[in-house]
This record gives sequence, C-alpha cells and structure tokens, in this order.
Amino acid sequence: MTNDDATSGPTTTGTRSILPADMISVEDARARILGQFHTLEASDAPLLDAGGGVSVLGQVLAEDVYATFSIPPLANTAMDGYAVRAADTRGATYDAPLELAVVGYLAAGTVYDGRVEAGQAVRIMTGAPMPAGADAVVPFEETDEQEHGRWDDRPRERVRIDAAAKPGANVREAGEDVRDGDRVLTRGTVLQPAQVGVFASLGRATANVYRRPVVAILSTGDELLRPGQPLTPGKIYDSNAFSLAAQVQSFGGIPRVLDVALDTVEALTARIHEGLAGADMLITSAGVSRGDFDVVKTVLASEGEVAFWTVRMKPGKPLAFGVFRGPNGPVPHLGLPGNPVSAMMTFELFGRPAIFQMLGKPDAWPRPTVRAVAADAIRNTDGRRFFARCVVSEEAGRWVARLTGPQSSGMLTSMSLANGYAVCPEDRDVIAPGEECEVILVDREAPVPASVRNRS
Ligand code: AMP
Ligand code: MG
Repeated sequence: MTNDDATSGPTTTGTRSILPADMISVEDARARILGQFHTLEASDAPLLDAGGGVSVLGQVLAEDVYATFSIPPLANTAMDGYAVRAADTRGATYDAPLELAVVGYLAAGTVYDGRVEAGQAVRIMTGAPMPAGADAVVPFEETDEQEHGRWDDRPRERVRIDAAAKPGANVREAGEDVRDGDRVLTRGTVLQPAQVGVFASLGRATANVYRRPVVAILSTGDELLRPGQPLTPGKIYDSNAFSLAAQVQSFGGIPRVLDVALDTVEALTARIHEGLAGADMLITSAGVSRGDFDVVKTVLASEGEVAFWTVRMKPGKPLAFGVFRGPNGPVPHLGLPGNPVSAMMTFELFGRPAIFQMLGKPDAWPRPTVRAVAADAIRNTDGRRFFARCVVSEEAGRWVARLTGPQSSGMLTSMSLANGYAVCPEDRDVIAPGEECEVILVDREAPVPASVRNRS
C-alpha cells in the first residue's frame, strides 16, 4: 500500500463549515474549491514583456476592442506591378500588347502625390497605396518585366502591358479587413496568437486583461533535497515543486517556488507566511495523508480554515483545502498529496480549474476527451475513479489507449510517458482489453515514439 492509499478518514481538525462527512467525489471537491475562487482584477498590460516576448498570451480580454481607423487605411496593391487605369488596358493580350508611359515608382510606405492620367502607369510594390486615378494593378508577370528573368529595377519610361486588367484587379480596398468603429474583439476572448496580432494591427501596445494569478508552491518533508545538491542516503529530490510550478505556468499562472519546509511546526509556519505574501493561491505538497511526521495538517488547521478530504479518485485521495489569512486578505490553499503522480493529478483536476477561474475563463479548463479502446486491462481496486496514465493513438480509424506501464502513484515517469489519462469510473471494477473507455487528452508537443510505449 502506498501512503496515498492510507485514508486520513473524516477529520475532526479545522473548521466544520466546508468539512465533508465522508469521501467526496471529484466533482464535489472541485465545486467546493471553485467556490472560493474568483476572476482577478483587470489591468492594462503591455503586449510585450521587457525581454521582447508576448506577455498576454492566454490571458482573457476584459474590454471590448474597437477600431479607431480602417484596415487597410488606404486602398493598396496586393501585387508588385503597375498601377493603371483599367480602361487603358482594354483588349491587351500577349499577342497584341499595348504600352503605357511610366510616370512614377512607388514603394510600400509612401503615397504617390501625383495622379495617373490616361495612358500612364505607376510602378508599384505590394502594400503601397493606390495612386489617385488608378483603379487596377497589372502584375509584373503580365508586363515585359517578366522577360528579364528577374525584376528590372532600372528606371524605364514605358511598360508593355500583356493582359487586360478589370477595374479593382489586385487592389485591396480600404477597410476590407476592419472598418473604423468596428468591434474587432470582444470581452472574454482568450488572447491567442491571432488576437495578439489583431491588437497590434489596431496600433494597440497594451491590452486590458485579467491578471495572472501568482501561485506560491511549497514542498514539505525532511527527506527532500533541491536538484543540484548531492544526493545523500535517505533523501530524494523535490520533484513536486518543479512539476507543479510547470503546471501552474503552462496553465497561465505565475509560479513562485518557495524553499522546502522541514516537517516541523516552526519551519512550516514560517514558510507558509512567506508564501502568502503577494500570492493568490498557495499550493503545498505532502503531509496530508496519515503519517507520524506529517505536521502539515496541524499547522494548516491552526493557521486558517481548512478541510481534509478523501476524494474518490486515484491517484490522489487525500486532499486539504482551506483559506489562509494572508497579509493582503484571504488566500485559498490547496494541500496536495506528496506522491509525485498524485500531486500532479490532483493539481490537474483541481488546480487547473482554479487558475482558469482566476484568469477569467472559468469554462475553459476541461480538456478534450476521446472514447478509446483499451489495449490493456484498467483495474479499479477500491471504488475510486482511476486515472490511468496511457498513450493514446489513432490506429485504423479508432483511438487505442495503452497503459504507460506500472501505475504506482510514486512513479513520475508514468506521467512523463503519457499523453492521456484513461478513466475507469468508480463503479467499474475493470475495463477489459477491447472495451471502450474515456480518455482525457493531455497537451503534448509530439507523439510518444513507439519504442517507449508499453514498456511494462
Ligand atoms: P507524504 O504525503 O509526506 O507522506 O509523502 C508521500 C510520498 O511522497 C513520500 O514517499 C514522499 O517522500 C513523497 N514526496 C513528498 N514530497 C515530495 C516532493 N516534493 N517531491 C517528490 N516526492 C515527494
Ligand atoms: Mg512527508
């Protein structure tokens, strides 16, 4: 039995207002947790940070955005070529071309101050505003410029037109993308790359967005060493702070990893107070299951309003949730189990929605799911919803889920190999090979190579 599986039982510590009598469901736990979170305040944030990166990616707009000019502001050419009066090109073909007088050269970014009169053309580059008088653009390909094999930049007095142009040919009209006064983006929109680009196209250097939550992360345990220190007997490296910080960051929050707290009341109390300053949420890992040296529960109960839950899920049954009295007001606290997989899985199920709620996108946290055929048996031993780490792939037109290997909640590599969590419901003993199950799809940059699949 792992420590995870030792029940903390209905607790008598802490306040009773949010205290469940018994094991609670994942949904129940999530609803109680989310009841303590709200969208953070909005402010004008620069699109770019000091290092030149996009800082607002994934943040939610708190304003409706209106255009204060049209895009494009002026009609302009979509091609490199010659701005002409379409009527002047009527009847032109390759076999019976006609000629126009070249009266000007125009690059993007400049406005032609003259006017194209009958029989005239202005040599023009993509994006340059249409000269007055011209209503069409004949691309280089339909002039004698193509015959040189490369564009001929030498000044020339005449151009041969090999094809007739219709009025409006290769012209982008003013306002064809956005009209002055249009509402271009609406409040509640998540800023993805395209929306960031739209902001910039409107000339806006800032966006009014809901603030990112700062999440303080505290690992507890006498056995923990920070990576970079030499490994000594009896110790392990603190992986939770790192995986949790990475989760916080990937979900859009700002992680603040605190120094490890030893399993003493004094150390833990000091660290928690340090963590609360300026944080919107505090995450601790370990010390919420039954263990002789777990002082986390004692400290939590004395410092704030807290409930200890046994959630009907695996990995990750024990969970503490409460609200601390921070220096700047109440700070919700999520006390996660210590086992590395349990910590990540509980954060996935409860911390992710909390962050999304603070970011102002409360309905966006659920991940996509697929129905997949289980390649391996997924066993549920004790009536808890089991989230099995798996590799899900499309094979012959259907989704197939293969376990990553042993499913111990101490084996962090089972998370690193997985691109999905196959769900065995609490009321099922087993999903047999060949049966369908629901699989939560986890973000992945690349599919897991076949060689590391199914290493069991
Ligand atoms: P606990 O909840 O304190 O009983 O811890 C459960 C298990 O998780 C133990 O095996 C701990 O050593 C392990 N553990 C606790 N904290 C961490 C951490 N920050 N990183 C990696 N493993 C941890
Ligand atoms: Mg411990």
